[in-house]
Amino acid sequence: MHYIDGTWVSSESEFAVTDPSNGEVIGHVADGGAAEATAAIDAADRAFTSWSQTTAYERSAILYEAWRLMTERSADLAELMTTEQGKPIKAARNEVKYGADFLLWYAEEAKRIYGETIPSARPDQRFVVLRQPVGVCAAVTPWNYPISMITRKIGPALAAGCTIVLKPAEQTPLCAKAMFEIFHDAGVPAGVVNMVCASDPVPVGDAWLDDDRVRKLTFTGSTEVGKLLGGRAASTIKRVSMELGGHAPFVVFDDADPVHAAKGASLVKFLNTGQACISPNRIYVQRGIAEEFIATLTERVAKMRAGNGFGDGVSIGPLVDDDAVAKVERQVNDAVEKGATLHTGGARLTDDGLDRGHFFAPTVLGDVTPDMVIHAEETFGPVAPVIVFDDPEEVLGKANDTTYGLAAYLYTRDVARAWRIAEGLRFGIIGINDINPTSAAAPFGGVKESGIGREGGHVGLDEYLDTKLIGWSV
Ligand code: NAP
Repeated sequence: MHYIDGTWVSSESEFAVTDPSNGEVIGHVADGGAAEATAAIDAADRAFTSWSQTTAYERSAILYEAWRLMTERSADLAELMTTEQGKPIKAARNEVKYGADFLLWYAEEAKRIYGETIPSARPDQRFVVLRQPVGVCAAVTPWNYPISMITRKIGPALAAGCTIVLKPAEQTPLCAKAMFEIFHDAGVPAGVVNMVCASDPVPVGDAWLDDDRVRKLTFTGSTEVGKLLGGRAASTIKRVSMELGGHAPFVVFDDADPVHAAKGASLVKFLNTGQACISPNRIYVQRGIAEEFIATLTERVAKMRAGNGFGDGVSIGPLVDDDAVAKVERQVNDAVEKGATLHTGGARLTDDGLDRGHFFAPTVLGDVTPDMVIHAEETFGPVAPVIVFDDPEEVLGKANDTTYGLAAYLYTRDVARAWRIAEGLRFGIIGINDINPTSAAAPFGGVKESGIGREGGHVGLDEYLDTKLIGWSV
């Protein structure tokens, strides 16, 4: 079902949604196209006038109610996510909490959209700066974080007074539907939030990007698709914010505790089975502690259990589809052929019924070199590539040697070095001895080909606000 103008709408055809751990069909959703996409804009455009004129206190109250309902339904949302997306149930619960945090944060932040007064050089003039909602926003979201990527956009859009049309990823429309039920039950007025599901994203995307009533595109997904959508959005000069791919360096200096750093690397690399934009893709470790670091990392990774996310002790879920498994396999084979050392893993998992899903063994690769595909291409899978380095002065250049610029991590006990390296890293998010530098209160986003703009925090609201200057002769 689509959600348009406050009601659930069907289409002539439907597409199936499957559980990636076993291939079973778990539901069907309406398959929309240009007609549904345009109907969603019509509704969002009609609703904009009244919604943008509500008070911040009214919008805040609705966001609070959505947060309350989301918290009340969190157990069901997490179970749905594990079934539809595959991540282990504990990780799904964490994501639901993280997703709800955006509704709470923006319920509070809605009341703090401040303008400005500016002194004029003319005695008879006053300058006042207003912050106003940009208008109808089009949002396109990915499958890897199927709930939090929705609230990270809808929270600030509603707080600002914008209306929104959203297309969830084809693999995870059921999580999106559950979230739109929450917005409906929370009392979001008809037309303010709208959702169109589609097996082919192109007609929906084109209808939204070509329509000049849509004043902003907010996209989370791959850099490749981001470039396509951004180019098309330029034809009507829409505001654009994009959260795209990453290739995070994880740098461990030899003054760090190798066991602690290896634990951090194992946790953040294998989070969501490596299907995270902030997942480390190059782990640089200084020679003095490399042996102990690699041994600890390998030991931890070899013990990780893959399977259905509801299974006891499972920390590695399935990959999203068979193409994803094939990509990981291709990167690992290429690396091994070019001389990488396979410390653990390295192959598809097919025993005990895992062949029905999309599983790849958690893998540690050593001796990774720049000629290997994995050194430059985002993996989006459970592979930790390790590179030993000698010169602490050279590693910053190596870490920055990527077209991406989302997250980077460093481990050191030297305060001056931590500061210097963090300043020199050309990435939007830095973790210093920390693997989770994210929060609804903090700006998330990248530089270079990892994106434009930020989500979360008070700057996340700016993306949905235009600045208007009033010059007033008195
Ligand atoms: P994707 O292939 O780019 O798809 C993302 C979304 O774009 C999906 O909803 C997809 O629809 C839609 N889409 C694709 N082509 C389109 C078109 N021509 N017009 C309109 N919509 C279109 O990315 P993904 O594989 O789902 O997600 C993984 C990527 O997202 C990774 O690169 C990851 O790093 C990035 N990511 C970034 C962040 C961040 O915050 N920076 C967070 C999460 C993920 P369909 O599903 O129907 O194809």
